[in-house]
Parts: sequence; structure tokens; C-alpha cells
Amino acid sequence: MDMNVFAPRHMDIGSGASSRIVAMLARLGVTRPLIVTDPIMVSLGLIDRIIEPLDQAGIGYHVFSETVPEPVDTIIETGIRFAAGLDIDGIIAFGGGSPIDTAKAINILRGAGQGVPIRDFKVPYVADHAALPLIAIPTTAGTGSEATRFTVITDTATDEKMLIAGLGALPVAAIVDFELSMSVPPRTTADTGIDAFTHALEAFVSRRANLVSDGYARIALRLIGPHLRTVYREPDNRAAREAMMLGATMAGLAFSNASVALVHGMSRPIGAHFHVPHGMSNAMLLPAVTRYSLNAALPRYAEAARLAGFAPESDADQLAGARLLEQLDSINHDLGVPNPHAFGIGRDSWDERLPVMAAQALASGSPANNPRVPDTAAILDIYAQIHR
Ligand code: NAD
Repeated sequence: MDMNVFAPRHMDIGSGASSRIVAMLARLGVTRPLIVTDPIMVSLGLIDRIIEPLDQAGIGYHVFSETVPEPVDTIIETGIRFAAGLDIDGIIAFGGGSPIDTAKAINILRGAGQGVPIRDFKVPYVADHAALPLIAIPTTAGTGSEATRFTVITDTATDEKMLIAGLGALPVAAIVDFELSMSVPPRTTADTGIDAFTHALEAFVSRRANLVSDGYARIALRLIGPHLRTVYREPDNRAAREAMMLGATMAGLAFSNASVALVHGMSRPIGAHFHVPHGMSNAMLLPAVTRYSLNAALPRYAEAARLAGFAPESDADQLAGARLLEQLDSINHDLGVPNPHAFGIGRDSWDERLPVMAAQALASGSPANNPRVPDTAAILDIYAQIHR
């Protein structure tokens, strides 16, 4: 029963929770925040949901809005330079996983002093230190980064999506307000939704799962499974948006405590080498990796299928597992997930990168958490299967 449990100190969850930013800052003693966000949050005016309350309360702040999707080391350095001379005492990360991860990396580097590259912090390094309290406010239902002790940054010198893990990456607090996700476009809704589902499923079957991560994963599977298609087809469906947002946060808590596994290990190299959005590269892999892993943890996969509503309670494990595989294929179809070929990745460049991708996948450590632990040949085989 021994376990380590990680979670933010405070999560304010609910419709309109972002309007309570001032109260959150007050509880944490933050008076001069840096807001880290992306240009779309600014152009859509979403950022006003937190800036207006700050203005009304007379709280001064700075905004760094140059973050990019799937953050790279050079943007972290830009952010560090931006923040260098500022008198700030906290960070508000506002946006999808990309701005949140960028804010986390800036915070870790700021705590490390001048000139240290972010690659020095990648696993197996334990990044337990950061400079300032960080409050994460997600606008996608998605990565769960608001509740995880991870940040993922691409090393532009090596095309490696580096996993950085430790308490330094765990937000002190999160505000989880599904209203912020109502404007997410369909493609991103699909990709981020499958990302959240993958987190829940991988945490549930992980070799590092424990009683607490299982609790979070079960809640996440129940919330996400029945709403994944609905939220894509009906973007204005508030109940579906709400379930997905809470499900994504619960899935984040699940994998922050149990780790992710083979899908994520193999997905990061696809993102880094071919610029496929994170959730989409997970989706490309999820059916094939689940097929490869199913019999190594059949009772777990079967329970996940029942929790997600993909199989009735009465199904025996073998049947529930088969239904899970069917559903994963049909979700990808229904949500328009392309395979790498349809995404536009040529077979030659795919094959050429596979040895490096397989090595990076294994080095990330995530495949070792999978119920069936693959060797290089198995990883190469799965990569080959999905490029049809
Ligand atoms: P994202 O943050 O890159 O956002 C995708 C696009 O959606 C962007 O153009 C963004 O501006 C837009 N967008 C976001 N919210 C919107 C809204 N409410 N309305 C309209 N547009 C909106 O995507 P993401 O999937 O949330 O994050 C992906 C990143 O998160 C990747 O870098 C991935 O590696 C990382 N990630 C981190 C963790 C973690 O634990 N730290 C876990 C999973 C993924």
C-alpha cells in the first residue's frame, strides 16, 4: 500500500471559476503575477476572463503571450529573457497544455539561475524546484497539465520531445472552468479529448498504478467515455464540455500519480519529428498499442471499457476487451483522426526516422510502465503498422 501522491494544493472547479482568480491569488499570497499564454487567447479575448478581475482589483501583472503550440526550448529561453527583470511573485499559466507547459518550464529555469538549458532537467533528472507559485488555468479539455508534475518541451537541437518531471512542474493551484473550453475548434476538441482518454486508460493499466491513481482514472473514464463523441459533434453542449473538462483534470491527476505508458512514449517522437499535435499522435497509436497490450492486463482493459460505457457490465473480460478495441477504432473514425500517411508523412521519411524515434521512445521511460513491456523490435513494428 506504500505510495506517493501528488496533486495541486487547491483546485477551484466549476462554471465561471476563472472569475475567482483574485481570491485564488489572495489565498496564495501572490500580488504581482506573470501571465503566460498564447496569442490566440489574447485575440479571442479569452484572457479577459482573468484580466478584468485583476484590473478591477487593482492587481498589476505582466503578460507573456508568445508561446507556441507544442513548446520548444527556444520559446522557453525567450520567456526567461522576458521575465528576467520583472518583479513578479507568481505565475498564471492560461491556455491549453502548450502555454501551461511553457509556464512550468520558465518557472523551473527561473529557479535554476542563469544560462542553464532546459534539457538539463529532462528525465531521469528529478525537477523538484521552481521559482514561484504557479496557478494553471486550462482552456482545453485535454492535457491535464494543470494537475500534473510534468512538462514536455522539444529540444530543437535533437528534435526530442523531452519529458521533465518533478514537483517543480506541479502547479500549486488550478482553476478548472469548462466555460473557457466552449470555443475550442472541432479538430482540437477531438485531439485533446482523445489525449485525456489516453491519460486515463494508460494510468489505469500502468504498472505504476496505485489505489489513488485508480480512483482518479475511474472517475476520468466515466466522465470522458460517454462524452468524447458528443463534444466533437455538439461543440455547444455544455454538459459534455463540463464532463470533458473535469475528466481531463481527473485523468491528469491519474497519470501524474501512475505515469503514462507506451502510447505516450511512442507519441512524443511522432510529435517532435513530424509536428503532429500531441493528442492526435496519441490517437494514431492508441488502437494499435492497446491491441498489443490487451492480454497483458485484460481485466484492467475490460474494466476500463465498462467504465467508459463501451461495454455493458455483463460482458466477460474477453468480450469487453474486444469491444474496447472496436470502440478505439471507431472513435478514431468518427473523430476524423488521420493515420500518419493521411496526415501527409511520406513512407520514406517515416521509415528513415524510425530507429531514432524508437530509441527516444524507450529512453523516455514510459514504455517500461506498459502492461506488456516492448523491446525495440516491438516498437518498430507498431510504428510500421500505423503508417498504412
Ligand atoms: P495547445 O495548448 O497546443 O492548443 C492547441 C490550439 O488550440 C492552439 O492553437 C490554442 O491557441 C488553441 N486553443 C486552446 N484553447 C482554446 C480555446 N478555448 N478556444 C479556442 N482555441 C483554443 O493544445 P493542448 O493539446 O492543450 O496542449 C498540447 C501540449 O501539452 C503539447 O505540447 C503536449 O506535449 C503537452 N502535454 C503536457 C502534459 C503535461 O502533463 N504537462 C500532458 C499532455 C500533453
